[in-house]
Amino acid sequence: MQFNTYTMAGTRVAVWLVNNPSPEASALTAVLSSYDVHEPMVTAGEVRALRPWTRRLREVFEAGTVAEKAERADGLLVAADCRPRLVSHGDGLPFHFHYAPVRGSLASRVEALTAAGLAHVIDDGGGERLRACGRVGCGVVFADTSRNGRRHFCSVRCANQVNVANHRLRQRQAAVVR
Ligand SMILES: [Zn+2]
Ligand SMILES: [Zn+2]
Repeated sequence: MQFNTYTMAGTRVAVWLVNNPSPEASALTAVLSSYDVHEPMVTAGEVRALRPWTRRLREVFEAGTVAEKAERADGLLVAADCRPRLVSHGDGLPFHFHYAPVRGSLASRVEALTAAGLAHVIDDGGGERLRACGRVGCGVVFADTSRNGRRHFCSVRCANQVNVANHRLRQRQAAVVR
């Protein structure tokens, strides 16, 4: 599948929010501006307003099947009142999707952007690439953009910990058999 950078912005913001559920307003502002979100100045009140939304985003990554992920992401589109519009910011500048009115509150724009981002990935056939780390107790989520789509851990560190644990388990089992 192709991960288009523009539609990926919503997914990247969703991943960041789930992994940083109580961010400093300035940190979220920096992330949003790095993805060209308009007027990205976040207030502490908006950070608080986004907390229940962040929990719902997590549920998409943690769902066991693509059908469940799709059902939850679809619920987010409805809850965010996502209404795609084609917008250009001036003469000759490219038209692109906005998922909520530019004048809306930043929290509602972030909700629409993240709902649309996850929905696009699922629409592209990449739903099973929206994952939570396979190490029990880690809880970090990610979008697997690897070529073969077989990445199951958030980091080399988690992958190594699980590999070492599995290796020890096999050694113990072998010892018991002997
Ligand atoms: Zn724009
Ligand atoms: Zn992990």
